[in-house]
Amino acid sequence: MKLSGFKEVKGVIRCHSGLRIGGSKDSIDIGGIDSPILRHPITDLPYIPGSSLKGKTRSLLELATGNVDPSGRAHNCGTCKVCLYFGSLKSPSPTRYIFRDAPLTESSEEKLRLAQEEKGLHFSELKNENWIDRKTGRAGQGGLRTTERVPAGTEFRFSVTIRLFEGDREEDAVGFLRRGLKLLAQDYLGASGSRGYGKIEFLELTLDGKPFSLDE
Ligand SMILES: [Zn+2]
Repeated sequence: MKLSGFKEVKGVIRCHSGLRIGGSKDSIDIGGIDSPILRHPITDLPYIPGSSLKGKTRSLLELATGNVDPSGRAHNCGTCKVCLYFGSLKSPSPTRYIFRDAPLTESSEEKLRLAQEEKGLHFSELKNENWIDRKTGRAGQGGLRTTERVPAGTEFRFSVTIRLFEGDREEDAVGFLRRGLKLLAQDYLGASGSRGYGKIEFLELTLDGKPFSLDE
């Protein structure tokens, strides 16, 4: 098996609604927030980990292609397109898609820094959420929870590298990724998507520097 080249899809992810990718409460507790977001350990700035982007794109493509494990476990047949491009423990064939961590764009970083100076926000939005006990119609036990999220309008720099090996069909590798990204924009990223979080849009997409559309 011989590596024949790389392709790179780049662009911007814009959040149409608040985005929540959870961090760990133990290590990143600030001011009693029940559910803090993931942040860079040194700069404290929010980012989208490549693992979240890859995992969600993969699971949507599994659903779209019907490659779903009936027992509810993670799909891992080793032979389908999802396993080929995203990698499989059952196949020695190397993973083709490399999803990079997505940092804030410069302008979004600036805006969040400004919001921090002016409003004391910690590069994020805090949202109080209640849950209602259906039997009693009152706020459930535990009551109000403070959830942190990245505010709507925030933008991140997105990049996926496609590794091509001898015998791989470039059009197929690019086309399958396009299909996955389109699904991701139609679905949601991060937590609580069915409650309006995590609606995203891809902007300024390029493939090796040339304009790249998800609608092809
Ligand atoms: Zn498979």
